[in-house]
Amino acid sequence: MLILLVVTWAMTLMPASAQDGPVRTASPAISDKVSSFERAAPVNNPGFSSTATGRDVNAFDPAAATLAWLESVPSNQREKSDAYFEGGYWLILWTFLLSAAISVFLLASRLSARLRDFSERVTNIKNFQIACYAIPYLLFIYALSFPLNLYENFFREHQYGLATQSFAPWFREQLLGLALALVGGTLLVVVLYAVFRRAPRTWWLWGAIVMIIYSGTLVLIAPVYIEPLFNTYKPLTDPKIRNPILAMARANEIPVKQVFEVDASRQTTRVSANVSGLLGTTRVALNDNLLKQCTLPELRAVMAHEMGHYVLNHGAKLVTYFGILILIGFALTRILFDAAVTRWGHKWRVRGIADPGGLPLLALIFSILVFFATPVLNTIVRITEREADAFGINTSREPDGMAKVALKLGAYRKLDPAPLEEFIFFDHPSGRARIRMAMDWKAANLPAGQLATVEGAPATR
Ligand SMILES: [Zn+2]
Repeated sequence: MLILLVVTWAMTLMPASAQDGPVRTASPAISDKVSSFERAAPVNNPGFSSTATGRDVNAFDPAAATLAWLESVPSNQREKSDAYFEGGYWLILWTFLLSAAISVFLLASRLSARLRDFSERVTNIKNFQIACYAIPYLLFIYALSFPLNLYENFFREHQYGLATQSFAPWFREQLLGLALALVGGTLLVVVLYAVFRRAPRTWWLWGAIVMIIYSGTLVLIAPVYIEPLFNTYKPLTDPKIRNPILAMARANEIPVKQVFEVDASRQTTRVSANVSGLLGTTRVALNDNLLKQCTLPELRAVMAHEMGHYVLNHGAKLVTYFGILILIGFALTRILFDAAVTRWGHKWRVRGIADPGGLPLLALIFSILVFFATPVLNTIVRITEREADAFGINTSREPDGMAKVALKLGAYRKLDPAPLEEFIFFDHPSGRARIRMAMDWKAANLPAGQLATVEGAPATR
C-alpha cells in the first residue's frame, strides 16, 4: 500500500514536475522589456488608461458573468458530472476501508508473519528476505483490491463516458503498471528495511528521507521513462497552434523548442496537458482530446497554466511540502507503530520495526494518516493550482478561453461545490472558482486592448 500511496502522490505531482534547465530568475533586461511593453500598450490601444479602467470595471459584472457561464451548461450534464465527482468522495472512503481491512487481515491471520517465516527459510541474506516478503505482499494487495480497482477505473469510467478502452488493452496496461509497482515498490521496501535495521531508534527520520528521495526521483523520471510506456508523445507540427504556445514559453524563459501531443484518447476522453522534464528534456505536452475540443484561446489558456507550474517551480515546492508532511507522518507512525506492537505484537508475531512481518501495520498506519490528511493534501495541491491559474490568465490573457476550459474540465469535476466541499475534496479549484478568477481578471483588464475578440462569451444580465 505504501508504494501505491507514493505512486498516487507522484501522479498528483506529475503535471508540475521537473525543474531543470537555465536559471529562470527575472533578469533586469527582461523586466525592462516587460515595462516598456506596458508603456507601449496605450499607444496602440487608446482604451488602455487608468481612467478607462476605472470606468469599465463598473460596466462588466464578474459575478453575473460567472453565473452566465455556469448556466450555459445543460442541467442534465451538470447532474451527471456532479454525480461522477461526488461518487469519488465515497471512493476515497471505500479505498481507505479496503486497504485498512487488508492490512488488519494480514496481521490478525498471521499470514504476514508466515510470509516472513517463509522468506527467512528461502535465504539468509537480509535484503533478499525483504524482497521475498515484499513481492508476494504487493501481489496479494493488488489481487485483493482488484475488484474495487476494476469498478473505479474501468466500469465507472465507461458508465460516465470517460473511458475509451475495451477491457483487454485496459488490463494490459494494468499489468504493466503492476510490473512497475512491483519493481519500484520492492526496491523501496528493501531500502526502507535496510534503514530500519541500522537505525532502530531514529528509523522514522531516515525512513522519511528515503521516502522523500524516492518520491522526488519518481516525479523526475516518470514523465521521461514511465509515461511513454503508456502513451506516445509526438511533436506538434501545426504552426497555427505550436507557434503561439512556443511564444508564451519564450516569453517566460521556458527552455523548449517543441510542443508535444500525447495520444490520451487511447484511454480517456478527458482534456489535459502538462509541462515536465529532466535534465534539459523539458517538455510541453497537450493531449489530443484538448487539441480536438478546444479553440486556440482555450489552448493558450491551458498551456499558460501548465507553464505556470514550471515557472513557479511547483515540482520542487510540492516535493518540499509533501516532504514535511512525510516527516510528520513518519514521526507519528513511530509512536503508533511502537504502541501497536507493544499491545498486539505477540498476537500478530510481529517482532519490531526491522521485521518485514510488520509491513502491513506500517501500511495501515500510513493509510489512516493519509485518509485523515485528505483535506490538507488536496489543499496544498489546490493552492499551487490556483497559483498556476493566476499565472496562466496573466500570460495567456484569455479570460473567456479559461472559462470555457473550466467548463470542459467540468465534465469530470463538480463545477459549483459548497466551500467546505471544495476545501476537503478538490485538488484543483472548482469550475466556479476558476471562471470567477477569469471574470475578475477580465473586469480589471477589459480596457487593456488585448481582448479585441471577446469570443463566445454568454450574455450577462
Ligand atoms: Zn495544473
